Amino acid sequence: MSIPVYIPDLSGNEKSYVLDALETGWISSIGPYVDRFEKALESESGFRHVIAVSNGTVALHLALHCLDVGPGDAVIVPTFTYIASVNTIAQTGATPVFADVRRDDWLIDPDDLARRLTPRTKAIMPVHLYGSICDPRVYAFAREHGLRIVDDCAEVLGSSRDGINVGHAADVATYSFFGNKTVTTGEGGAVATNDDALAARMRMVKGQGQSTNRRYWHEELGFNYRMTNIAAAIGTAQMERFAEIVARKRRIAEQYRSLLAGAPVVFQQAAAGVTSNEWLVSVLLPEGCDRERVMALMAEQGVDTRPVFFCAHHMPMYRSSERFPVAEDIAARGLSLPSYPALTDDEVAAVAAALTSACALAAQEPDRIA
Ligand SMILES: *Cc1c(COP(=O)(O)O)cnc(C)c1O
Repeated sequence: MSIPVYIPDLSGNEKSYVLDALETGWISSIGPYVDRFEKALESESGFRHVIAVSNGTVALHLALHCLDVGPGDAVIVPTFTYIASVNTIAQTGATPVFADVRRDDWLIDPDDLARRLTPRTKAIMPVHLYGSICDPRVYAFAREHGLRIVDDCAEVLGSSRDGINVGHAADVATYSFFGNKTVTTGEGGAVATNDDALAARMRMVKGQGQSTNRRYWHEELGFNYRMTNIAAAIGTAQMERFAEIVARKRRIAEQYRSLLAGAPVVFQQAAAGVTSNEWLVSVLLPEGCDRERVMALMAEQGVDTRPVFFCAHHMPMYRSSERFPVAEDIAARGLSLPSYPALTDDEVAAVAAALTSACALAAQEPDRIA
């Protein structure tokens, strides 16, 4: 495959900082890079507290746990999301309650929340996908009904609405630094909050619930969700080039939009006022188009693509016969395109050409069975 969907850009100080971590012996979760990475994230996101953890999934679990979400509670979450959003709710003992998403931005539908509410509803988890940000009415609804809010910001570090960074309307925002995210640490994640007490509790609970001033004394049930200094060394180098990485991704997204203006695909559309970080440029293929066939035809041209997420209510462990029409449609027709910073202009053009010709070819093969 000559053009993959993602390649992390490790062309800055990543290697030298990792080597430094190895040479100084600080390879576990104590070490200067963890602090530097957290400070860099605080300054980028504007949160008073950012706490690094081992991945984006445990970031969600830590946030829910420290907001006292647990057995007997219900948490509203979009069915169209990465599975970690739903699994972490279930892992607390609470019940995930699915909501549908909107056709334009593919994100949780504020008009589908009221009927999901029960006396057991404790929290809501808005999930921001591919760079776009959820509607402010979701937060107004949550406040009106006294719900806690965990914002899954795994994909949207750098996205904002009307100049305000994503996540600030939530109790806790979480990030992921997996290898294909805008900023990577290999595996990694973080929780962010402006609440001092909640930050202190999350910091303690991620480190086995150990007292901050008495070693091997554990104040409450905790987890080992710590990030290593080696991972944070990579993240520290990434944050030095954050603006550059996001600027390049935005340029790639612009190019795709102009090159594919005449193609029969519909881009995920960020709502008015939203500035996307353009994490992964994603489109809907035409209705009735065989996505597998389009992907295979593009692969023949050396272009790798990804289907978007499946709906959580279609998975065996969350199976429900209830219909979520918009989420189901987007899950069936969505496709993500190569969107990594090192992608050249020529490669973007090659992807656009491969998609255009694959759509045309697939449309001429109406008898194929999807
Ligand atoms: C990547 C991602 C996560 C989980 O992150 P990991 O670091 O892979 O555990 C959670 N939610 C969403 C929406 C994601 O894209």
